[in-house]
Amino acid sequence: MNHRDADHGIQHPPSHEAPAEGRGPGTGAEPDSTAPRRPRVATVWLGGCSGCHMSFLDMDERLIELAAKIDLVYSPLADVKVFPPDVDVTLVEGAVSNVENEEMARIVRRRSRLVVSFGDCATTGNVTAMRNRFSPDEILHRAYVELADGDATVPSEFATIAKLLPTARPLHEVVRVDAFLHGCPPTADEIWLAVSALIEGRIPELPNVYQRYG
Ligand code: SF4
Repeated sequence: MNHRDADHGIQHPPSHEAPAEGRGPGTGAEPDSTAPRRPRVATVWLGGCSGCHMSFLDMDERLIELAAKIDLVYSPLADVKVFPPDVDVTLVEGAVSNVENEEMARIVRRRSRLVVSFGDCATTGNVTAMRNRFSPDEILHRAYVELADGDATVPSEFATIAKLLPTARPLHEVVRVDAFLHGCPPTADEIWLAVSALIEGRIPELPNVYQRYG
């Protein structure tokens, strides 16, 4: 196993030899047990605009190459309902802005070896944190009363929208993060370089051109 410096917060980089829980002979699909284990990759959308995921799709034909190398086990780009265990790399878009974001961030951390802040909202709060100068009540009143076309009512029960946290926070203020991808959004080239390293269990060392915000 390729252990790295604990100061970088990396405990267990991907082990491409270990069989994943719940897979292998006897689970129905009967995959080839002699085949090397492919990195299990997830992407998660918290308090963001989905622009980082759109930039992921901008990798275009490189997505085909990537698809041959990984198992995409959870993503808003795939129809998977439950974040699975034993994930090697998870890219997290968006700030932690509501209680569902916070719960998801903790699940992702528990079930992922490497967690990556994917874009400036996850890294700094960025656009999502622009609401931090207002209280949640002020924001809800603005959205559901002042800007309402009809039925100007603030939802009294958080049955359909998640309860806002007092402020939107960058991901690393809530859970430990192993790497950061700057940019609003990160470019497709930057994502490609980073993901190529991450699925090999390496923290990406990106050129200076990618070490900027915005
Ligand atoms: S970093 Fe930019 S593109 Fe990504 S979620 Fe935030 S606002 Fe959208």
